[in-house]
Amino acid sequence: MAGRAVTRTRFAPSPTGPLHLGHAYAALTAAALAEEGQFLLRIEDIDQTRCRPEWETALCDDLHWLGLNWPLPVMRQSGRLPAYRAALDRLGAMGLIYPCRCRRADITSALSAPQEGAAAIGPDGPVYPGTCRGRPMAGAGSQDAIRLDARRAFALLGEEEVGFHDDCVMPDTRHRLAAADFIDGIGDVVLARRGMGTSYHLSVVVDDAAQGITLVTRGKDLFDSTFIHVLLQRLLDLPTPLYHHHRLIRDAAGRRLAKRDDARAIRLYRAEGATPADIRRMVGLTG
Ligand code: GLU
Repeated sequence: MAGRAVTRTRFAPSPTGPLHLGHAYAALTAAALAEEGQFLLRIEDIDQTRCRPEWETALCDDLHWLGLNWPLPVMRQSGRLPAYRAALDRLGAMGLIYPCRCRRADITSALSAPQEGAAAIGPDGPVYPGTCRGRPMAGAGSQDAIRLDARRAFALLGEEEVGFHDDCVMPDTRHRLAAADFIDGIGDVVLARRGMGTSYHLSVVVDDAAQGITLVTRGKDLFDSTFIHVLLQRLLDLPTPLYHHHRLIRDAAGRRLAKRDDARAIRLYRAEGATPADIRRMVGLTG
């Protein structure tokens, strides 16, 4: 990290359950990477059906207990819908988005049609077969999701690939994904979920730029999603930060900890008398 100007990174949890060991590792890693720079907390609460204020309070309490601090006020995505709308409108003016009325079952049955062949699985599940592609935004209804037309996006940019630098890899390697591989393997991702006005991908890109994040610290499970984010940054004229995709914390059986894995909740370890140093040891951090 030596020589980097001012690092600003963040921990961006969704308050849908207790803070667990995987979160603790992500937050401690981000804070350590910030060094003399800034460590920010961002609450990713766009899914109001799953997020709860009491989980937010509890996770802040656990993070403080771990020794982490962050500047206030904390950015909360539920208050940022106008910013996401503006980004969508901009992509709309470029002719790159379309409304999609397909439900999960429609997509599954379209993909199982004999002529379709095996569907690729992207970061958000099976690659969308494009049933609604070309529908005009003027006809968008409240029951529609909004998708990015990936093929058009690359054509408009005139770029053959997207890529980013991941500082976990030595020497500093640029990860690349060719436009054709993005189109076939990721496809037309959802930028606004039905009834929500945005999606994880759109919000995270808009907010990392709004907060001036220079280093995105996140788990390896989001590695493929980063290509989506870089494409959106290119389309919206936003800077591409550096990335650090950290290892995932697994349980004794090697399974990745689920967000709602209560058994590994920090508050349970706290109740049993564990110290912050114990938690650091449990996730493989020393010192
Ligand atoms: N909110 C996301 C999560 O809890 C992480 C966002 C990110 O690091 O980009 O998985």
